[in-house]
Amino acid sequence: MYQNTLLHIGGHWRLAAGGDTIPVVNPATEEVVGTVAHATTEDLAEAAAAAKGGFAEWRKISPYDRSKVMRRAAVLMRERESTIARLMTIEQGKPLNEALIEVRSAADVIEWFAEEGRRTYGRVIPARGEGIYQLSLREPVGPVAAFTPWNFPINQIVRKLSAALAAGCSIIVKAPEEAPASASELIRSFVDAGAPAGTVNLVFGTPAEISQYLIAHPAIRKISFTGSTPVGKQLAALAGLHMKRATMELGGHAPAIVFADSDIDAAVNILSAAKFRNAGQVCVAPTRFLIQENVFEPFVDKFVKKVQAIKVGNGLEEGASMGPLANDRRLHAMEALLADAVQSGAEVRIGGRRIGNKGFFFEPTVVVNPSLSSRVMNEEPFGPLAIMVPFKSFDDAIEEANRLPYGLAAYAYTSSTRTAAALGANIECGMVTINHMGLGLPETPFGGIKDSGMGSEGGSEGIEAYLQTKFVSQM
Ligand code: NAD
Repeated sequence: MYQNTLLHIGGHWRLAAGGDTIPVVNPATEEVVGTVAHATTEDLAEAAAAAKGGFAEWRKISPYDRSKVMRRAAVLMRERESTIARLMTIEQGKPLNEALIEVRSAADVIEWFAEEGRRTYGRVIPARGEGIYQLSLREPVGPVAAFTPWNFPINQIVRKLSAALAAGCSIIVKAPEEAPASASELIRSFVDAGAPAGTVNLVFGTPAEISQYLIAHPAIRKISFTGSTPVGKQLAALAGLHMKRATMELGGHAPAIVFADSDIDAAVNILSAAKFRNAGQVCVAPTRFLIQENVFEPFVDKFVKKVQAIKVGNGLEEGASMGPLANDRRLHAMEALLADAVQSGAEVRIGGRRIGNKGFFFEPTVVVNPSLSSRVMNEEPFGPLAIMVPFKSFDDAIEEANRLPYGLAAYAYTSSTRTAAALGANIECGMVTINHMGLGLPETPFGGIKDSGMGSEGGSEGIEAYLQTKFVSQM
């Protein structure tokens, strides 16, 4: 049932100009399940021209009518959810129920922005002379180029796509070559819902070639990228060179701070679910578990028991609670990070090895006490690795939480409202959730600070990225 994926340019689904394709591999079986079209420069030039034309048309449609098209796209996503989720599991590996949740939450995101687009208010500024109207207007910034990764093939696109369209922008999405079919179904839902030709375009190919070409292209006015910090820095530099606005959603290394006064069972339940979702390939996944020293061992023991209950398997199989890693790069990264951690004095409490030799399966792993200078305490693990270290005082925990250049998400557990308030005030990050799991809703801001990026993708803040201000003074 897996389909080959085409480009979508100027209202047409088609092969790349040169006919080249890239194979798509199922990470659970390592079998090639299909192909995706590999765009050439000719295709990219057409996509840029199409986005320019699409923008001219889409911006003239009222926010009210744009919202109707978007709402239809959300309905189509829900109608097609089981087919789309299956495609995602086959190409990306995550368990089917996680893929289903991703498709459903995409529909929620589309609906949120469909409504938010109707509230892009400007201002009337009191004038100094009679009969003068001073207007601050909000306008769509123009055609957008969006670059998205393979860990959430739909979710990473939908926040950019929906906000851009709601604001009145057109878009070219460079979606993940490793998980192209589910991404293309998201685009299809907008096309089938009546988005005019050129409004929504989809390309795949060699990421560096595409970003180089599109960021420099005069038709493109805004860049949005989700991926690793090193690539984000390159693209932000390129955007600066061409004076293009940019939103960057980059890597993280989220501290999860558990105080001795917290409900340890609740913390274990919530954090273990968050840790191993999508096999840990989540930018906001809890990664550095900082546990107050007098509850360190009980916390680790309870956490390890949770890990024992995880069933790793092909995401299509009933009961599999964690799938394979999405590609062999992550497998090698896990092995290298763990070897280095053990070398540094860490102890593996559970897991630590590849499972079998077919499919990119890796054991959910708990490792305690690596040295501060080990790679795993400094690099984003992006896999099923929970790293645990004890801390003594509040100040020690904050110092460790803020030690790295990352500043994406943070988690904390305490029964003291005073500690909770101090955590919220002192952790350097874009998002912090205390005593529950509260990140990533359509209506709440999502984004990082420091090396984790710039700009926000959710909530009212999310649409701001696609709007520019024009001042009109009229008499
Ligand atoms: P990578 O750094 O090469 O690529 C990360 C993403 O950026 C991919 O989607 C890739 O297609 C894209 N990319 C790479 N170079 C690009 C360029 N010049 N122009 C445009 N897009 C480009 O490595 P990878 O092996 O795919 O992923 C590894 C690391 O990336 C992970 O360790 C993690 O840190 C990060 N990552 C982060 C997220 C996230 O949600 N923030 C998602 C996926 C990967």
